[in-house]
Amino acid sequence: MNILLLGSGGREHALAWKIAQSIACTHLYIAPGNAGTAAYGTNVNIGVSDFEKIKDFCLNNKIDMLVPGSEEPLVKGVYDFFKADAALQHIPVIGPSEEGAQMEGSKAFAKLFMQRHNIPTAAYREFSEENFEEGVAYIRQHAVPVVLKADGLAAGKGVVITSSHDEAVQEFEEMIRSAKFGEAGKKVVIEQFLTGIELSVFVLTDGKNYKVLPTAKDYKRIGEGDTGLNTGGMGAVSPVPFAQGAFMKMVEDRIIRPTVEGLAKENIIYQGFIFFGLINVEGEPFVIEYNCRMGDPETEVVIPRLQNDLLELFTAVQQQALDQVTVYEDPRAAATVMLVSKGYPESYEKGKVITEIPAPAKDQLVFHAGTKADGDQVLTNGGRVIAITSLASDLQLALAHSRQTAERIQFDGKYYRRDIGYEFVS
Ligand code: ATP
Repeated sequence: MNILLLGSGGREHALAWKIAQSIACTHLYIAPGNAGTAAYGTNVNIGVSDFEKIKDFCLNNKIDMLVPGSEEPLVKGVYDFFKADAALQHIPVIGPSEEGAQMEGSKAFAKLFMQRHNIPTAAYREFSEENFEEGVAYIRQHAVPVVLKADGLAAGKGVVITSSHDEAVQEFEEMIRSAKFGEAGKKVVIEQFLTGIELSVFVLTDGKNYKVLPTAKDYKRIGEGDTGLNTGGMGAVSPVPFAQGAFMKMVEDRIIRPTVEGLAKENIIYQGFIFFGLINVEGEPFVIEYNCRMGDPETEVVIPRLQNDLLELFTAVQQQALDQVTVYEDPRAAATVMLVSKGYPESYEKGKVITEIPAPAKDQLVFHAGTKADGDQVLTNGGRVIAITSLASDLQLALAHSRQTAERIQFDGKYYRRDIGYEFVS
């Protein structure tokens, strides 16, 4: 099979690494890819949402499967674009339809979906210009902290949590009246603040059946001890120690199964990954958010622990035969530490030479995120630069190995968090 993978982050490097190992993979192309993905296939200079160019490329290169890595092409309707075109229809797209991608693309859509299917989530109300004054009154009597969420995609920045009513009202006004997040924020979800430990649960669904993949937890803040600004993710661990047994049974019974069945009942086409952003509130799982693709950096711990052939799983998704498949997890723990550029997530410089990148080993993988090849050199080309994933018999060891390599890899302005996984190790 010829595969076209869309994306250019650490997530796509991990997916490329895994897809290239499949016995069914003839050739892998990555659009646009990065310096790391080039080791597993051919990078193609096409943007992830340039559907016309993607179409031409698929037809000229006999692509047999499209794997979108990020939400952008999915929310923009790449699935529907393929299905509506007679020349492309035969190519399976691993991901939801545009409607299904609304589970991530619209928080109001996701909240209503959860309400219809009795899926546990924070209590909420939805407001826009039409009921602005009602929204202000709602905030004034709301318990603090107040959680405000721009409805649409806002590059991970559309959630504001504030412990002051005045600040919440000000944010609300800026979102709706000053278009702080553009169109994405013209509708706002205001919800109850939940306290607990967050985790990510990933599922692959064929629209009828589903398989649960290894669990993970990511670390979003730039500073140690979960302080400072939010980032795309500074590291991740898998498995999540408490996500097993009775807790995971609750997750399946109350959240995963009702979600997959709800999508099917509402005839929402969804054949791909569902990412459940969950929070464990005193032992009970609640949904914080849905995403319609894998997480980054969670993919960098989840995929190395997945022992199945990934294209075999994707083929089962396409054939609605996931019930015939058993998912095998590597019993070892995985830990990812992300190296980032000085200044990230605010402004930072690019083009720094990266040295001492180790070759992939049995128990350690180095995934490129913001990198660029320049002749024989590899240069930084983004805020998040490199993800180091180690596998070991326990989490503590895996974390120690990733940190050792984080020390070894060099580039000007390198920064990383030394405390990834801190709540799970002594
Ligand atoms: P992402 O960058 O993960 O895509 P997002 O912008 O889509 O995030 P959410 O995941 O809904 O937004 O929220 C971002 C973060 O805000 C969550 O990871 C969580 O830490 C916090 N958060 C969101 N909703 C709540 C809530 N109801 N109670 C407590 N914390 C919350």
